[in-house]
Amino acid sequence: MFYAETKGELARMMPDSECCIISELSAIARSCGRLEMRQCDGESLPVFEISTENAAFARKIMAFVRNVFRFKPKVRFTSRKRGLPGNKYTVELPCDADTLRMLQDIGVISQKRGGVSLRNGIPWSLLSKQCCLRSYLRGVFLARGYVQNPEKEYHMEVMTDSLTHAEGIVRIAESFDVMPRIASRKKGHMVYVKGGDDVAQLLRVMGAHSAVLTLESVRVLRSVRGDVNRVVNCETANLTKAVDAGLAQVTAIRKIDEIIGLGSLSPGLQEIARLRLANPEMTLRELGRMLSPPISKSAVNHRMRRLIQTAERLSGNVG
Ligand SMILES: [Zn+2]
Repeated sequence: MFYAETKGELARMMPDSECCIISELSAIARSCGRLEMRQCDGESLPVFEISTENAAFARKIMAFVRNVFRFKPKVRFTSRKRGLPGNKYTVELPCDADTLRMLQDIGVISQKRGGVSLRNGIPWSLLSKQCCLRSYLRGVFLARGYVQNPEKEYHMEVMTDSLTHAEGIVRIAESFDVMPRIASRKKGHMVYVKGGDDVAQLLRVMGAHSAVLTLESVRVLRSVRGDVNRVVNCETANLTKAVDAGLAQVTAIRKIDEIIGLGSLSPGLQEIARLRLANPEMTLRELGRMLSPPISKSAVNHRMRRLIQTAERLSGNVG
């Protein structure tokens, strides 16, 4: 859900300036475009295709090409079998000079000896402005990105087939104070971040403001939940310790009573011993307050230690 909403929000977002459209289209074409050379009227020209399951994203690509490069791509629609998700929209850029010019302008191809191929790295010359760097990140995320539901885990990633491209994406993210890592796999290179701060910052950089709000509210809930758990655990631990200590004191006092009688203790010790026997569950502070005049927690603690030492000495003598 979170992923679909984030992707939808970014797909519907139209950059204001042409520089940003070019950057975003460049990222999209580099990340998920497929280039094929075909012979047209004796000339070798590229056919370029971008496939996606997301209708809003397909519409965005169409709008980019139409508004900036002034030609209209075709869209092929392939529907899956009934009941299965995953209709596919393929934006098809025809085999002509317009397509070649567009691919050159967005910096995704290199031409060598008449052959055209996809470039490995990032077209830095297009990305001199911060707005364009943001747009580039948005493009790679829309094309091959994923963000995990923050209630499960803070994780965001983009895939690319080129290590140089992956390293370029890391450099762009670093310019916004996020330090992603790269994991290379058989199926490609994954650039990813973990941690709520980094995921939130990247969403913010890409302009996914609703997603940032959702993420932040989940974070607040998660941290409140964590705090409550910590407090409960901590209180349980303290309580257990207090109960154990209280029981040990009661046992010691009973032993003294059995062997020498409580009456043989000094008045101060006698007083606290009787109070403890009558109130095994009370804290030391509460016991101290019941005496008149009241005494401090540490004074009660001191007397309890003397009672326990006495009991130990007595059982040593007896046993
Ligand atoms: Zn720009």
